[in-house]
Amino acid sequence: MSSIQIAIDGPAGAGKSTIAKLVAKAFHFVYIDTGAMYRAVTLKAMRNHVDLADENAFDFIDQTRFDYKDGMLYMDGENVDDEIRTREVSNNVSLVSSHYIVRHKTVKRQRELAEGKNVVMDGRDIGYHVLPNATFKFFLTADVQTRAKRRYKENLKRNIRSSLAELEEEIATRDRFDSSRKHSPLRAADDAIVIDTSDMRIETVVETIKAKVREDEALWKQNSQK
Ligand code: C5P
Repeated sequence: MSSIQIAIDGPAGAGKSTIAKLVAKAFHFVYIDTGAMYRAVTLKAMRNHVDLADENAFDFIDQTRFDYKDGMLYMDGENVDDEIRTREVSNNVSLVSSHYIVRHKTVKRQRELAEGKNVVMDGRDIGYHVLPNATFKFFLTADVQTRAKRRYKENLKRNIRSSLAELEEEIATRDRFDSSRKHSPLRAADDAIVIDTSDMRIETVVETIKAKVREDEALWKQNSQK
């Protein structure tokens, strides 16, 4: 039976991870947050005091274990899901993820994790690079103010102090960096369904994606019989 892959891309704070998690739960699929993997690599590099601008300093990725359990990332067996969301990591992750070597090594891991499973994977380059043959591709956008507000609320829940104005600035900077980098920049796959979530409730976006997946159930069944 062929597996079903749902790719969800978009800029920081577009609600990707919350939405992807809910979609995965609804269909009992595995959820893979690729941003979390880049964040974990950044965290490990910071802990090891390596020069984040030196792309040759990331060989350690090959010896690092990444496991997702209940939507949370474990690095070398340690639950790092909170620590990878700090502002220090957020402000360094774009630099780290812009290195070709880092992307090459992490994309390999992401593909291995998805292999043969029904997955929802979210990130920046999933639909056109990591899983170019994904069964469904979505690209979520939202204006920067909305995204900063969502991140602010998320931070409150995680006890991370932040100011809305600073978050807006940080998100805009990260967007610029992620969209203009040389290797696999943030972009929608040509065949992705683009959803502007600015004025939508998270539940409505989840329902829109679920409806689209169910609408194509015939195709899904057809594929699974191959
Ligand atoms: O999704 P999240 O905001 O946690 O991603 C953190 C960072 O990881 C992004 O700003 C981007 O630099 C990087 N990233 C990436 N490619 C992905 C997912 C995330 O470059 N597929």
